[in-house]
Amino acid sequence: MGGFFGVASKNDCVFDLFFGTDYHSHLGTRRAGMAVYDPEDGFAKAIHKIENSPFRTKFDKEANSMHGIYGIGSISDFEPQPIMVHSHHGTFAVTTVGKINNVDYLESEILKNNSHFFVMSNGNINPTELVAALINQKDNFIDGIRYALEVIDGSLSLLALTERGIYAARDKMGRTPISVGKKEGAYCASFESCAYANLGFQPVRELRPGEIAVLQPDSFRSLYVPDQEKMKICTFLWIYYGYPSSSYEGISVEKMRYRCGELLAKRDHIKPDIVVGVPDSGTAHAIGYSNAAGIPFSRPLIKYTPTWPRSFMPTMQQNRDLIAKMKLIAVPDLIKGKSMVVIDDSIVRGTQLRETAEFLFESGATEVHVRPACPPIMFGCKYLNFSRSKSEMELIARRVIVELEGTDKVSDEVLREYCDPDSERYQKMTDAICKKLNFTTLRYHRLDDMVAAVGIDPDKLCTYCWNGEE
Ligand code: SF4
Repeated sequence: MGGFFGVASKNDCVFDLFFGTDYHSHLGTRRAGMAVYDPEDGFAKAIHKIENSPFRTKFDKEANSMHGIYGIGSISDFEPQPIMVHSHHGTFAVTTVGKINNVDYLESEILKNNSHFFVMSNGNINPTELVAALINQKDNFIDGIRYALEVIDGSLSLLALTERGIYAARDKMGRTPISVGKKEGAYCASFESCAYANLGFQPVRELRPGEIAVLQPDSFRSLYVPDQEKMKICTFLWIYYGYPSSSYEGISVEKMRYRCGELLAKRDHIKPDIVVGVPDSGTAHAIGYSNAAGIPFSRPLIKYTPTWPRSFMPTMQQNRDLIAKMKLIAVPDLIKGKSMVVIDDSIVRGTQLRETAEFLFESGATEVHVRPACPPIMFGCKYLNFSRSKSEMELIARRVIVELEGTDKVSDEVLREYCDPDSERYQKMTDAICKKLNFTTLRYHRLDDMVAAVGIDPDKLCTYCWNGEE
């Protein structure tokens, strides 16, 4: 994934930039960066790895040495950003969130003009540099941003830092959010709406899909809004990766998760002793379930947070699973002899939930009923570099479908049937996953219930990873 924060201020903006960016640390684990503009000293930029130590530690020095009135910051799961370039638009820095599926095509179009790109250590070009190059294809900066939003297949939201202020542009389908905040002498633009509350900003509004705006210390102006607005905001923002204190399209993440758990409980007829949320991803959903079912919420698994920052992320899958396990410590007294509903945001490969269930049984649980807060994930995400959605054949639902069908060439029609919670094929798939992962029972959330839990027009929500509908 990734997240960003930008601020335009009458006074020095670095304190707000530092904390506003830091509040996006849950969205990325690899690189972070800050770029600032000062009318006297010009532009400055810093990028660090945040794989094994958090943003605040890594940028402590810059927080004290950088200065400027405009700044943008980035937390990224992949490429180093912000990228700073000098072109006919002057000097500007840009940071992006999204995924570019047509990199090769766009790159070759630009290279036709005898241009060049830097190559990253993995041999690929930096997608954010490609965005800067696309902006440079047009005479006018705004037309350049519009062009970049338009030609990218996938999704793109961006912040650009210039001498004139901060430009914010939201993905043309609104896949990811941008929220604008205001305080005396400053405006900010943020992926997470909760990132600016503690900095004294009040919410102004969210950008519309495809909207481009400019922020200056005393003004926030919309420069372009598409005539025909279409929205497909990512539903996984509410289910998993958005921060609980944020709202998107006016819908609170934490409240949505309570409603999600409530609707899960309404379709259940079991009466276990306790409701458990896998920390932290299942906690809010479990609170909603517990309140609706009248079954006590309990914490038999507790995350050891003091020395396991979210950003500690080994690159090998085997180690990742081990680390995920090491982060949780059990409370045996809350497990022994208990039947329980265990809720997590989703099941991806199934490894972690299988191990959690095994561990609960070994610790004396009598029943482990698993209730993911979303339907089976069937398709890898095409729109975001979203680590929950792996390659399709890593998804447990897809692996089980291959086993049940006896072939990996499953037609779209058959896949659609597996997505339908009222079909026989869906039931067989769920039963097979339950057996494979050794749960007592397994019941996924239904797509209609999950969408109802968000509460906005279903046509405005992206649900591609669950039903393949674009
Ligand atoms: S496919 Fe899934 S993860 Fe990707 S944008 Fe759509 S809802 Fe979000």
